[in-house]
Amino acid sequence: MNSYVIETVDLTKKYQDQFAVKQLNLHVPKGQIYGLLGRNGAGKTTTMKLLLGLVRPTGGKIHLFGEEHSRFPKQDYNRIGSMIEAPAFYENLTARENLQILARLRGQHRKDTVERALSVVGLQQEEKKQFRRFSVGMRQRLGLAAALMHEPELLILDEPMNGLDPIGIQDIRAYLLELCRNRGTTILISSHVLSEIEQLADRIGIMHKGSLLEETGLQELNQKSRRYVEFEVSDVNRAALLLEREFQISDYTVLEGRGLRIYEKLEQRAKVNQCFVAAGIVVDHISIYGEKLEAYVKSLIGGGGIG
Ligand code: ATP
Repeated sequence: MNSYVIETVDLTKKYQDQFAVKQLNLHVPKGQIYGLLGRNGAGKTTTMKLLLGLVRPTGGKIHLFGEEHSRFPKQDYNRIGSMIEAPAFYENLTARENLQILARLRGQHRKDTVERALSVVGLQQEEKKQFRRFSVGMRQRLGLAAALMHEPELLILDEPMNGLDPIGIQDIRAYLLELCRNRGTTILISSHVLSEIEQLADRIGIMHKGSLLEETGLQELNQKSRRYVEFEVSDVNRAALLLEREFQISDYTVLEGRGLRIYEKLEQRAKVNQCFVAAGIVVDHISIYGEKLEAYVKSLIGGGGIG
């Protein structure tokens, strides 16, 4: 048994002759925020619907909380909160009334449950407005409140920031981070906006045309996509000393053998080279590598759509 809250093995969903999700192997660790990134039509929504049992897989397996999907106890769906596509509510009721009904259905009888959820998403002031008069952003906020209200262990949120204004995005981001860090909630969140995922996720899965192209920690991804200069020198230890002493460069790694990777002050590489040479260090090779995270992701999935 592992500590993945969600694990899929070759999960596949085919519509007619088209794969919406193709042999997906997803690993969402407990207590982390996992960002599913992909352009429109990449298969993010279908993946989430499969996880929630809203769509039947064509093939493959799903494990939730370590339990195979088919053996997952019905009452354990309470452990999950979700928001997929446009959430449905009673049109002629207010936000509070809608949540009160939901709380009653779920057997949540604590008085402050609804108020807390309303306050988290910033809807507590909307006393009178009926759902049918809600803006897109307000509908989204109410959907989130409904997903969060029972404080689930796992949250599955499909593009939750869509339609929110920048302040709303900040509020929700801060709340999701707080949920994860302080209460250990596991969160699977999808987006087609890289910067949103970048500011939130611990792990990231990049989907394209139904497949998972890469699954990695955000730090590793940043590292991979970071620009750096690599020097090949005759004496790495002395070279490293000079970097620190003469250039105050501390963000570097020493590779096995003769390699030295520098991640900061890249524009000073010519001066660094001169300094090494002046100190009697032989420099065999200098190269600049890497690219911005955005460019890296684009290189994986092709241009457009990710911003
Ligand atoms: P978006 O951000 O646009 O919602 P997505 O990454 O969530 O995109 P999906 O909605 O999962 O992508 O769609 C993946 C593919 O599967 C698309 O090509 C879509 O047209 C197709 N698809 C999804 N649902 C169905 C369905 N019920 N019948 C036929 N094809 C479908």
